[in-house]
Amino acid sequence: MQVKRHALLSPSVGTQRELLSFHYGQPGRGQKVYMQASLHADELPGMLVLYHLKQKLAALEASGALLGEVVVVPVANPIGLSQTLMHGQLGRFDFAGGENFNRQYPDFLALLGDQIESRLGNDAEANKRAIRTAMAEALRAIQPATELASLRHTLVTMACDADVVLDLHCDFEAVMHLYTETPYLPQAEPLNRFLGARAVLLAKGSGGASFDEALSGHWWQLAERFAGRFPIPLACFSATVELRGETEVYHPVAEQDAMNLITFLQHRGVVAGPAPALPAALCEPTPLAGSETLSAPHAGVLVFLKQPGDYINVGEAVAEVIDPLSDVISTVCATVSGVLYARSIVRYATAGMDLCKVAGKVAFRSGPLLGA
Ligand SMILES: [Zn+2]
Repeated sequence: MQVKRHALLSPSVGTQRELLSFHYGQPGRGQKVYMQASLHADELPGMLVLYHLKQKLAALEASGALLGEVVVVPVANPIGLSQTLMHGQLGRFDFAGGENFNRQYPDFLALLGDQIESRLGNDAEANKRAIRTAMAEALRAIQPATELASLRHTLVTMACDADVVLDLHCDFEAVMHLYTETPYLPQAEPLNRFLGARAVLLAKGSGGASFDEALSGHWWQLAERFAGRFPIPLACFSATVELRGETEVYHPVAEQDAMNLITFLQHRGVVAGPAPALPAALCEPTPLAGSETLSAPHAGVLVFLKQPGDYINVGEAVAEVIDPLSDVISTVCATVSGVLYARSIVRYATAGMDLCKVAGKVAFRSGPLLGA
């Protein structure tokens, strides 16, 4: 195992943060897997999962069972981790500029430009190498101007040549669920099963320039663009893994999640051993554009009638919003059928506030699909 320290751009005199990455296995041998946690810095289940994963990877490496390279970044966002306001840790948006830490990652399709065509040929493996080389060149040409830009740049640089990228997040109160891009579903399906995902949300570009899609999106876009001319593999399976709710930080759960990730690595051939049996899927993947976010019709006390993981039928009541001054009670009902996979952690709703999300099977939304 090798530890690498990556200094971020200093935002202020006398201050400099750094990222630490932990490298297991041998670079250049087999597949490269990159995993990071807590990019939204107040989402901590992944940090504990990667702590447990590190111990397991160290043991596998010592016994010679690692057949690829695994890079682990348990603390992907030291900027957000230090943001505390009146006892509350606020790690989703950068205090300095208000930006979401998981948005505005590079658009590799644009960075590679039309010039990439001159580097492509009939060999898919050679095309993969050529595209990765061009990606690395494009990243080297970028000079981040802020600490946040240098954080994003450093993370993407570490992950840009990986075959698998897992970005570990969580929701407020939730069951295990995943976001990935539709063309990668065959690669995602084993992960869904090993982790026991209760919802899998699919999109071909959700419009948020999130970390995971920045790394996976240009591969399918190039494959479509050059279809019939140059073979382009789907060379980076990337997913955002939502490890349940934000308070679900417990050793037994995290250790099991880490073990399930190791089993997934074994399935991918990154860890030696016989191919593990695939457990049954606990859900059918659904379009992200079919996910309904229910919102509060007015302000009031929020009383949920359904739990994360419950299956909701169309028209079924999910929550009540109660105004204790006027005694108005509004029942909030789903307009789609599906699993309630995430809900708010607060119990006072302001007018229009997002309350919960239901994974409907039929796409009905368009435009940007991710929330703020
Ligand atoms: Zn998150």
